[in-house]
Amino acid sequence: MDDAVTLIRPAVQTEHFDVLIVGAGISGVGSAYHLATQCPGTSFAVLEVQDGFGGTWRTHRYPGIRSDSDLHTFGYRFKPWTGVPIATAGEILRYMGEVIEENGLARHIRYRHRIRSARWSSRDALWTIDATRTDTGEELRFTANFLWMCQGYYRHEEGYTPHWDGMETYKGRIVHPQTWPEDLDYTGKTVLVIGSGATAATVVPAMAPDAAHVTMLQRSPTYFRSGRNAIELAEQLRQLQVDETWIHEIVRRRILYDQAVFTQRTFEEPETVRKELIDAVRALLGEEYDVETHFTPKYRPWQQRLAFVPDGDLFQGIRSGKASVVTDEIERFTEKGILLRSGNELEADIIVTATGFNLCVMGDIRFAIDGKPLNFADTVTYRGMMFTGVPNLAWVFGYFRASWTLRADLVADFVCRLLHHMQEKGVRKVEVALRPQDKDMKLLPWIDEQNFNPGYMKRGMDLLPKRGDKPEWAHTQDYWNEKDAFPATNLDDPAFVYS
Ligand SMILES: Cc1cc2nc3c(=O)[nH]c(=O)nc-3n(C[C@H](O)[C@H](O)[C@H](O)COP(=O)(O)OP(=O)(O)OC[C@H]3O[C@@H](n4cnc5c(N)ncnc54)[C@H](O)[C@@H]3O)c2cc1C
Repeated sequence: MDDAVTLIRPAVQTEHFDVLIVGAGISGVGSAYHLATQCPGTSFAVLEVQDGFGGTWRTHRYPGIRSDSDLHTFGYRFKPWTGVPIATAGEILRYMGEVIEENGLARHIRYRHRIRSARWSSRDALWTIDATRTDTGEELRFTANFLWMCQGYYRHEEGYTPHWDGMETYKGRIVHPQTWPEDLDYTGKTVLVIGSGATAATVVPAMAPDAAHVTMLQRSPTYFRSGRNAIELAEQLRQLQVDETWIHEIVRRRILYDQAVFTQRTFEEPETVRKELIDAVRALLGEEYDVETHFTPKYRPWQQRLAFVPDGDLFQGIRSGKASVVTDEIERFTEKGILLRSGNELEADIIVTATGFNLCVMGDIRFAIDGKPLNFADTVTYRGMMFTGVPNLAWVFGYFRASWTLRADLVADFVCRLLHHMQEKGVRKVEVALRPQDKDMKLLPWIDEQNFNPGYMKRGMDLLPKRGDKPEWAHTQDYWNEKDAFPATNLDDPAFVYS
């Protein structure tokens, strides 16, 4: 009987696309737009495991969730941003929804599709992708000539929570911002937020008005920048009734110019920049506040992402007495809260672990090349977007110091140019390979830790591809270099092997 059932079960149907985009976050939707407009006639689909678009902006639902970079540059190059620069997740989703609608992208996106494996066959010059429908459990198979990986860099299902002694004895509720419970009522409760990155800086002022008190517990301080949530130049141009398309472009150029100057200064005069940042915080908190202990970081400005605090809301929360900062280390959890190394105990009804992400390389998809399992850590990256030994595939890994999306736009231009080039050459396969002059090149970690060192990167660096020390094999995380280098790339350089 079982055999009969097996025999009559329909074979997995295979659907073919020229390009398959993985993920419908800001990168995947942008890549779909570029592909549709720069390579018309290319068949493609976007496969997304969630039940809607947005990625980060859909899965994060903690109070106050917002961007920490401006939306003129976090927004796409091609679609003007007309709101305030620091935007809520809701506003970002609305903007992305407009991009999908205005460009007829909805028909290309398949939601509730979890890609489990991707296998490259050199004989067929094709990727075979197996996916599971999360709603029906149906197994689906796709083939594609090119895989455009827009799956982000961290695991959406679960955030990173370190283990501390005694956690199981704590009687209150422990919550990670990435999996915020819909039913969490913190009205009148004492809340303890562990961490002091952008997420903690958002959640603390957002919870403070309703909670009895919110304490931000940090091991070490973070740099923050603060200012009005507005861009004066944009306001002036609007007053002059300048077209929004122009405003978007002009404001982007202004922001990028200012960021270039600022970044340069963090390298050339780190001490001066450091003092400016700390003095600005002191001005917001008052002379009597212990800025030395709580807001004077040990690292160089820009070594970690610099969070922007719109309208100084975090500092207002502290000044109002509804929020406070404790800089200490956790000894262990207790029934009522957390015992610190100093011997003090912090009691709390709710503990929020704003302790970061779990790095996830390539969306937890099992890759194989001609039957051999692929470990991306064994590959060398071509400019942080293609990988040696991995044909017909590109990864969008955006910027950290500048807005992520700036790089998504640049990589998209590159991929579209590469697809055109392959068509002109009449080839089906492109692979990057080390050239004879690269054979003895020193291989380095994916990102320079001296340059940028957030915890999730350090924890997962050994899972990521390597980079080299020549421009072709570098991963600079430098928008100002890549904006010129990517379009100037010679696609007939021997680093590209076509067949
Ligand atoms: C709270 C928060 C705030 C941030 N703020 C900023 C900011 O202000 N500025 C900035 O530049 N950066 C910010 N970042 C970084 C941010 O993640 C990126 O900027 C950007 O949103 C990433 O977009 P993405 O589309 O590349 O990836 P994601 O947003 O991670 O989207 C990837 C999508 O791929 C899907 N996917 C993954 N694996 C699979 C699979 N196997 N099968 C099918 N689908 C899959 C996921 O479900 C997801 O929808 C922030 C990050 C967080 C967490």
